[in-house]
Amino acid sequence: MSIETLIENPSIPLKSAPVHNSEFSQDRFDDSVMATYGRFPLALERGEGCRVWDTQGREYLDFVAGIATCTLGHAHPALIEAVTRQIKKLHHVSNLYYIPLQGELAKWLIEHSCADRVFFCNSGAEANEGAIKLARKYAHTVLNIKNPVILTAHASFHGRTLATITATGQPKYQQNFDPLMPGFEYVPYNDIQALEETITRLDAQESQVAAILLEALQGEGGVRPGNVEYFQRIREICTEKGILLILDEVQVGMGRTGHFWGYENLGIEPDIFTSAKGLGGGIPIGATMCKQFCDVFKPGDHASTFGGNPFACAAALSVCQTLERENLLANVQQRGEQLRTGLRGLASKYPDLIAEVRGWGLINGMELKADTQVTSTDIVKAAIAEGLLLVPAGPKVIRFVPPLIVSAEEIDKGLQVLEKAIAAVIP
Ligand SMILES: *Cc1c(COP(=O)(O)O)cnc(C)c1O
Repeated sequence: MSIETLIENPSIPLKSAPVHNSEFSQDRFDDSVMATYGRFPLALERGEGCRVWDTQGREYLDFVAGIATCTLGHAHPALIEAVTRQIKKLHHVSNLYYIPLQGELAKWLIEHSCADRVFFCNSGAEANEGAIKLARKYAHTVLNIKNPVILTAHASFHGRTLATITATGQPKYQQNFDPLMPGFEYVPYNDIQALEETITRLDAQESQVAAILLEALQGEGGVRPGNVEYFQRIREICTEKGILLILDEVQVGMGRTGHFWGYENLGIEPDIFTSAKGLGGGIPIGATMCKQFCDVFKPGDHASTFGGNPFACAAALSVCQTLERENLLANVQQRGEQLRTGLRGLASKYPDLIAEVRGWGLINGMELKADTQVTSTDIVKAAIAEGLLLVPAGPKVIRFVPPLIVSAEEIDKGLQVLEKAIAAVIP
């Protein structure tokens, strides 16, 4: 079905009508939904491209994209067409049967990465759980390690399930949820000496390092890019010792950095890697991918009811095809340069406020000076008031992760609005 047919057919509304729902009540919401999120007082109702509108009808430029998730922005015709077509045909069946679209999506991912095999699930945490299970099974059945340990980094983020909060090297996510999962040890990020010492120490004990799980660029932990020499040395160590290198590509994969995968920025290939956020462009889907040599899963080892259902695969395939058709990687590289140049301009204009600007492609961070009173949340709130959505990455870093379709005009507009927000918060 063509997009024109969809537009002409009133039974398939393409977008919610541009009338706003002023009946939304924050109190009623808070009475019934668990307070797990510190939400900004904002309820969004519809979107188009890089713009969203709230229930009051106010317009915002969206540099959050559902936290690096809405790859194609909002209401992209290709995504609308793909999911509309698929839900009318067949949306869910179970992995009891073959799902042709899952095979097509896996093929695309394999052709555009170093992976040989793919397992589909629904989220980043679940994709990392799959990677952890795969690495543990490999350790037991191939490496003959009795107490396999997975090394992860301080300030990392790998999800909110019990195994993935344990993998996450940030105590604030673990507090009150113990006992945590055994089999994880932490090392400082980008510090090769500490890593080598930890491997040596563990090898001398009953436990042995089976895998190293890292982000190519730490997203939640403050938009910290991995160091090329560090990752290249890790790759050598892993290959020498038979340790699996697992990369969590949940936030940086799927074109976010201007390459399909974050590891391409580091000139290495992982043995196992995961994807989720950007993969379905906002429709929930995750993937655990690996090289053939460590694909040790057999029927019955791992499963997911929703994983890779036809609906989610149709969405992800349309995201993949649109990335290529619209040449979005080039856009990500150019808009990323433009954004960092603008942010660096602001950094030199406000040297008492801004310490550093860093990032790859369209995942960028602006770190505030440690000695300023201003927090990332202050800036984000001021930006919302001016009509720009941003997201903190820790107390001092503001993260910029717009849709990958963002235009040069929208980047300029975002920078102008950000400057207004900065002017509003500086003492
Ligand atoms: C968001 C994120 C996760 C968790 O993904 P969910 O879909 O929320 O489970 C895991 N790892 C990284 C690097 C992330 O950014």
